Amino acid sequence: MTTELEIGLYIFILAGFLGYHVITRVPPLLHTPLMSATNAISGISLIGSLVVAGANYSRLSTALGFIAVTCSSTNVVGGFLITDRMLRMFKRREEVGIQHRRFNLKLLLAIPVLVVFLVVMHWIRRSGTDSQSSSAALSVVALRYFYILSAVLFILGLKGLSSPKYARKGMLLAAFGMVMAIAGTLFHPEIVNYRWITLGLAIGSVVGGSMGLRIPMTAVPQRTALSHSLGALAASLIGISEYVRHVAVELDSVKMTTIGLEVIIGSLTFTGSLMAAGKLQGLLPGAPITYRGQNVFNITLLSAVVGSLIYLVFVPATSTLFFVMVGLALLFGFLLVIPIGAADMPVVIALLNSYGGLADASMGFVLMNKIQIITGSLDGTSGFLLSLLMCRAMNRSAINVLFGAFGKVQKEEVGPAAEATGTVRSITPEELTVLFDSIRSVIIVPGYGMAVAQAQQGVSELAKLLSTRGIDVKYAIHPVAGRMPGHMNVLLAEANVPYDQLYTMEQINPYFPEADIALVVGANDVTNPAAKNNKNSPLYGMPILEVHRAKSIIVLKRSLRPGFAGVDNELYYDPKCMMLFGDAKESLNKLFAALRS
Ligand code: NAP
Repeated sequence: MTTELEIGLYIFILAGFLGYHVITRVPPLLHTPLMSATNAISGISLIGSLVVAGANYSRLSTALGFIAVTCSSTNVVGGFLITDRMLRMFKRREEVGIQHRRFNLKLLLAIPVLVVFLVVMHWIRRSGTDSQSSSAALSVVALRYFYILSAVLFILGLKGLSSPKYARKGMLLAAFGMVMAIAGTLFHPEIVNYRWITLGLAIGSVVGGSMGLRIPMTAVPQRTALSHSLGALAASLIGISEYVRHVAVELDSVKMTTIGLEVIIGSLTFTGSLMAAGKLQGLLPGAPITYRGQNVFNITLLSAVVGSLIYLVFVPATSTLFFVMVGLALLFGFLLVIPIGAADMPVVIALLNSYGGLADASMGFVLMNKIQIITGSLDGTSGFLLSLLMCRAMNRSAINVLFGAFGKVQKEEVGPAAEATGTVRSITPEELTVLFDSIRSVIIVPGYGMAVAQAQQGVSELAKLLSTRGIDVKYAIHPVAGRMPGHMNVLLAEANVPYDQLYTMEQINPYFPEADIALVVGANDVTNPAAKNNKNSPLYGMPILEVHRAKSIIVLKRSLRPGFAGVDNELYYDPKCMMLFGDAKESLNKLFAALRS
């Protein structure tokens, strides 16, 4: 057991390093598909769930395994489908208008490989009637090699995400790896009953399939949070099943520790992610819910959870304490997320993504399943890296995020916001057309307000019209614009904006001084010059899009109200700046109509 644990730990650490190198090469453009891809891949927890659901350990284990199979297969099917949908949208300028094939014919080549594999596994299992134990051992060995192959395909899949050109091919490889691992597991020697497995796979495929094919791109953040919660629930249930199964026989301290970590991380990620999904969907109030002594209470609760686990490691047979610990972990996940406002949820999702990866990896340790350790580690690294990137882009400390005490708490510490004063100039769409007559370049700056107004199609139409008039159009994408990392890119890609027009903050900032117009659509904080030149501003230090350096600035928003940070934007008082007040979608429609006429 100890040697297995050591090997598992080595694999976990090495997969983490590998994940770091592969994932840091994924451009911000593909950060949203990356999140759903790691989600789908971490659905490999399905293979552990299949064994528990089909092994006839006990009625409880079968029931828990069945729910876990349903949750994990929802994630696998939904995750791969929505990733593919997103990746199909990313097109270069010359590809716009061309429909990428929904189904890649090359995938048919995988069928013979799969058939041979299934025939071999079937033959091994059938020969088990004569020599039960040796055939079982053989099928376990065969499975092990197929899992290694699947792990390689997953890593190649993530590597493909380093460019939109290869991303779809990479994801197809990863999906094939998943099919192989799942199909092979169906021949696992411990599986004796397929009834619940079939039902779980069927429900999961229908739910995941309809989520993956139908969910609008604006709802991707809440879908991601929901799938984190399903994955974490699966891990937690398998942990509970393993505890119940082993506690009556024997449970050494290593096994108890891994089961404990699995259920704790799984449970808190489950409720935390559900809360995040509810806030993003608008089912729960988006405002932070805070009360006196909140941090002290949360830390006490976490200490109680950890204390229970330590006690259980020494006295594993205390079943009541085990279930109290699960309950407290569920409560902790819920309390961790309620003080955080809806606008901060993207960081929470990325963080919960990494917690979900840890829960998967712990499940791998419990079942001593190395492929789950690898995918859990990859998922954990990806979520952790994305949350660090977002922290840097918002000028927040990683420690602040790690302990969940951000959002409202941080704002109170900063002090009163600096107020900008001066004269604001407003402009009408008709007046704007005159300005557009004499320009050669525009940089469009989409922000959170564009997503709220669903104005991406209007932006794309306007950009196309300007391009036909010979005007150079570029888009400036701030890393925290939108509702999750890279979300703005997906929304614009859906509206047929070619990805070679999308520029990251670092790439676009040098272009602003040459731009005739910076057209800001529902962005506020990410353009506030106070972040660069006002030490008293709460935004000071946050990297921004240097819109104020453009020759003229047009801002589309409804009022002078501040953005998420609650800070006045001095950009609006700049003599070069003109405000086009109104809903972004309506303003763009009017501007488009005025320009056409
Ligand atoms: P922002 O500062 O929140 O400003 C968005 C602006 O959109 C608002 O000022 C609002 O002004 C306008 N707006 C809202 N609905 C609109 C509509 N229908 N039509 C036109 N305008 C509309 O957004 P941002 O500049 O994109 O900055 C993002 C903020 O969120 C940053 O402070 C960032 O730190 C934070 N954040 C982002 C993420 C992420 O991953 N994206 C994560 C965590 C935190 P009116 O009300 O006047 O219209």
